[in-house]
Parts: sequence; structure tokens; C-alpha cells
Amino acid sequence: MAKKTIDQVDVAGRRVLMRVDFNVPLDEKGAITDDRRIRLALPTIRSVIERGGRLILISHLGRPKGAGPEPAFSLRPAADRLGELLGGTGVRFVADDCIGEAARQAVAALADGEALVLENLRFHKAEKENDEGFAAKLSAFADIYCNDAFGTAHRNHASMHAVPLAMAGKPRVAGFLLQKELQYLSETIEHARRPFVAVLGGVKVSDKLGAIENLIGRVDSILIGGAMAYTFLKSSGRAVGASLVEEDRLEDAARMLAEAGDKILLPTDHHCGRKPEAATPTKHFKDDIEDGWMGLDIGPETIERYRQAIGDAKTIVWNGPMGVFEIPPFDTGTRSVAEAIAAATGQGATSVIGGGDSAAAIEAFGLAEQVSHVSTGGGASLQMLEGRSFDSVDLLEEA
Ligand code: ADP
Ligand code: MG
Repeated sequence: MAKKTIDQVDVAGRRVLMRVDFNVPLDEKGAITDDRRIRLALPTIRSVIERGGRLILISHLGRPKGAGPEPAFSLRPAADRLGELLGGTGVRFVADDCIGEAARQAVAALADGEALVLENLRFHKAEKENDEGFAAKLSAFADIYCNDAFGTAHRNHASMHAVPLAMAGKPRVAGFLLQKELQYLSETIEHARRPFVAVLGGVKVSDKLGAIENLIGRVDSILIGGAMAYTFLKSSGRAVGASLVEEDRLEDAARMLAEAGDKILLPTDHHCGRKPEAATPTKHFKDDIEDGWMGLDIGPETIERYRQAIGDAKTIVWNGPMGVFEIPPFDTGTRSVAEAIAAATGQGATSVIGGGDSAAAIEAFGLAEQVSHVSTGGGASLQMLEGRSFDSVDLLEEA
């Protein structure tokens, strides 16, 4: 799955349309609270401007309605931050529409080594509709297409799919971030050193069924936590109190437990509350949970079992928190698992963290530097755990 990367094309004097993932979180005042996605795109961006390419950056941000500009979703803060990160070299920004007259003029005025950020693609509903007419306008801007937006790789939106289709015959390459994500995730899963342990949590079984199905034949064990554990536990006859359960997935869960034999590990004790709130009374339950109590985190006995399984592993993939980690004390399970993964990595294991909330958790615990790879794509990394490829990536040239 190695793709041609941006450094393998001559960009000097040529216009490069680069799809990045500048979908950064903003606070109420519109200030960026985490610029990781912009920083991680810098190597690809620098590769173009330092070699005299004329760079046109496109991205979405948030979920605007798709019916024209909405100031709250402007990419201006991202363009400003990019300018700062590039050391104050002027990054231009088109405050207008990404395909309008102002955009066309700004593209035409680009000099060698300059960068331009176009306004949010999703101000047009055509972006999400993978619209050919919209794609034709964007693709007319450039001689080269580069995709560095791993976080959006699983979406067949115009800038990811119709645009590279429209640019057939021109160079269509991967950026370094996309390449790194694809390599890490595919290598880790395809060529895992054993024992190979998957840690899966989060809210819904339905979100992660595909990943469990794909991983079950590859891994030595799957450690289950988070709310989705309660659908599994209920399906195996346990009392789960007021814990979140997906009733329509009980059969799937039971089938998977039957198929997986003892590969699937479930929590055997639970840190419960009345509600997922900081001030809730708490109680510890072993095995069955009483009525009126919600499982909000894995308990200490489970933490110990999971720690040991992780400690023995040579390959670890983690997607989905073990509990409501946003609300202490229900962060303990997630934190302990994160610490165990960091420690195992220190002992030579390969570890990959995917999932938006899991990535946020490991960042919040200050452990992101102590694991092998933290993915920038929640949905995209999950799709890789499901063993599915991306149409957007298939359109890029092979190395
Ligand atoms: P990721 O983004 O890493 O894939 P998910 O989106 O699937 O993870 O799930 C993350 C959310 O799951 C978090 O907001 C967390 O509070 C919630 N969660 C985890 N465990 C529980 C639980 N036992 N009960 C309710 N919510 C939970
Ligand atoms: Mg999530």
C-alpha cells in the first residue's frame, strides 16, 4: 500500500492542491485549543514551499450547514496559526468562497514558494456530496494533487474523491502524514509481533463490531472496556444495572463471544455511579451490578488483569476509553491502561492509539510521546482496524 509521496514529484513553479485536515478544535472565542493537526501537516507543507511550489491548501472545519459562509467555522484561525508555525512567512487566506472569483485570483497571483489557504470546503454542501462540478472547479486550480488528510480518508467527499478523480493524468500523491498513518496502522496490524493485544472501549458496540470481527482472527486477545462492555456482559447473562446497553446488539455480542472463545476478555468488576456526573455517589461491584447503578469505569481487579495482558504484549492497538475518562474518578481505568501501554512500549512493544477520544485521553494524561503512534484520525483509524481500504487513497499513485 506504499503510495508515491510529495517529495517524489517536482513541484517547482507548479501549483499543488493539498487536502489537509485542519479540522482543529476551537473555543467559544474561536481560538484554537489544539493545533496538533496543523503541526503534523507541516513537513508536507514545507516540502512544497521550500522547493518553490505554489501551495493551495484546502480543508473542512466543523459541521457548517453547507449553505454558505458561517463565521464560526472559518478556517482563518487555522491559516493564521499556520503562518505563525512557518515563522511568520505570509500565508495568504481567501476569506471568500473556496471556488469563487477571489479564490481564482489568489491562486493566479501565487508566487513560487507561497502558500494560500482557501475557506472551509464544507460551506458548500457539494463537498460532502462528492459533487463533480464542485470538484472540477477546485481541480482546475492546480497541476498536482496531494492528500495529507488522514482524518478524512474514510470519507468520499469531493476534495478527497471527486477532485483526484478529476485530476487523473496529473500527479496525485500522498503527503507524509497520510503515508505515516497508513504505514503505521497497516504494518502494525499485518505484521504484528506476538502477543498481539487489542484494547477496545468507548460507547457503542455497534461502532466497533467491524473492528472486533477483523481483529479476532489476528490477535491473541481483545480487552473490552467502556460502555460497550455492558452489552457483552448482558448478552452473557450478567446483571448490568443501569449501564448503557445496546439491546439490538445483544445477539451480535453473544455470537462474537461464542466465536472468540476465550480471546475476548470482559471486565469482572466495575466502578459504578448513579449517573455519569462528577458528584454522583460511587460504588464498586464485582461481576453483577445492582439495579440503579451504572458501570462508568472498569474496576481495580479488571485493571490488574488488563495491565498484565498489556505488559506481556509485543503489539498493542487501542481504540476507545475504558470509562467516562472525562469525569474523575472514572478516568482511572483509562489512565491505567494508557500507563500500561506506555510502559510496554518502553519495553519494546509497538503501540498504536486510534480513536478521537482515546487520542484525546492519552494526550491529556501526558503519555502521547511514550507510545509508538497516536493516530490523527478516529473514524479513519477504526476503518483500518476493520481491515477496509480507502477509496480516496486508492486514487493516489503507487510508489
Ligand atoms: P473513541 O473516540 O476513542 O473511538 P468512543 O467515541 O467510542 O471512543 O467513546 C468515547 C466515549 O465513551 C467517551 O466520551 C466516554 O465518556 C464514553 N464512555 C466510556 N465508558 C463509558 C461508560 N461505561 N458509560 C458511558 N460512557 C462511557
Ligand atoms: Mg469518539
